Amino acid sequence: MSAELDSLLVRRRRALGSHAEISYDRPVHVSHAEGVWVHTIEGEKLLDVYNNVPHVGHAHPRVVAAIAQQASRIASNTRYLDDNIIRYAERLLASLPGPLDTCLFVNSGSEANDLAWRLAKAHTGFGGALVLEHSYHGITEAVTALSTAVRQAPAPHVEQLRAPPANSASEVHDALNRLGARGFKPAAFFLDSALTSSGIHDPPAEWVQRITRAVHAAGGLIVADEVQIGLGRSGSHLWGFERRGMQPDIVTLGKPIGNGYPLGAVLTSRRIAEPFQKRTGFFSTFGGNPVAAAAGLAVLESEGLMANAQATGTYLRERLQGLALEHPALQVRGCGLLVGVEIADQGGRSGDSLTRTVVNGLRERQILIGAEGPRGNVLKLRPPLPFARPHADQLISALAAELSAARARFDPR
Ligand code: PMP
Repeated sequence: MSAELDSLLVRRRRALGSHAEISYDRPVHVSHAEGVWVHTIEGEKLLDVYNNVPHVGHAHPRVVAAIAQQASRIASNTRYLDDNIIRYAERLLASLPGPLDTCLFVNSGSEANDLAWRLAKAHTGFGGALVLEHSYHGITEAVTALSTAVRQAPAPHVEQLRAPPANSASEVHDALNRLGARGFKPAAFFLDSALTSSGIHDPPAEWVQRITRAVHAAGGLIVADEVQIGLGRSGSHLWGFERRGMQPDIVTLGKPIGNGYPLGAVLTSRRIAEPFQKRTGFFSTFGGNPVAAAAGLAVLESEGLMANAQATGTYLRERLQGLALEHPALQVRGCGLLVGVEIADQGGRSGDSLTRTVVNGLRERQILIGAEGPRGNVLKLRPPLPFARPHADQLISALAAELSAARARFDPR
């Protein structure tokens, strides 16, 4: 590492705390980005196969112009009448099934889930939650308790379900009974429609329906967390919950909807939202401000990205399946452009350490990916949606070379 990088790292550690997470053994010293490319100060051009926030591509000119134009006019809040805010809420609601007719704005996925939790508790009068094993829903105190991927003491009001295919028919009833035995009825079942932190799975509709039927029957609400897979990333549906055959009572949005401008939203029905608004006077200073709404509207103008997620995602998984024939330790999962590649233990090395080696190796081959899952042994491929076949080819060549190099290093027979 260069002396300049070393000194930045020292300053970062001092200013941000020595345990502030940073990606890659050799950190990425960013300069600027466009489309699916991230440029570093050192002059590298990295293929971004990691970031879903720049949904329509990094620094998309239409989004940048919309933000700049609105910021030069007024950056106010939802207490004033503003065309952008209303138009954006209407556009989101028009894309959702009928019962979801009311939109509340916040600033992040965490805030959206925190608000969804408050709404669910207020509407049901209950205080229990069901989530998946190794779930992640954000950083507030309330949603950290719903994030079983975060190391913490077990919360008595939260029960976990195993991710598919392990999850069994009786499991949801058993979990509800355990909650009941501790004095809690379910206010909500929270599901990241992409099951991202649980290891990236693509279960059939029956899997989700079994759970949601039981939760509804017990009086709880269904919250679809679309922070990872919303806006067409699944390739088949605009919203991930549609792919799962879910009928959520509340949908939460974040990350990609502002293409990098902070923006979160909660979409629910009037009968859930209005009593809560009346009782609490809910208002977020920056949530849904006109600049954020302008960014959100500009993101929605993009066409063909879902079809590209389908076509390129299918092609990418086919090529990965090809690699898995040569490397039987790989198992390919996911849908659209949210793809997981699980790496099993092999040659005396654990899957998670192999995964870390591959992630850092690819970074040296100018490709950004991440690691995910309960054991940290799933490669996470989740690029901006303009990601196309030549980009997939570049990724596959680098991954093939990296896997062969890793095998030669650790299994030199
Ligand atoms: N929900 C899910 C499924 C997420 O993956 C994340 C972030 N990784 C969040 C919520 C929280 O979003 P944010 O960090 O933007 O608050």
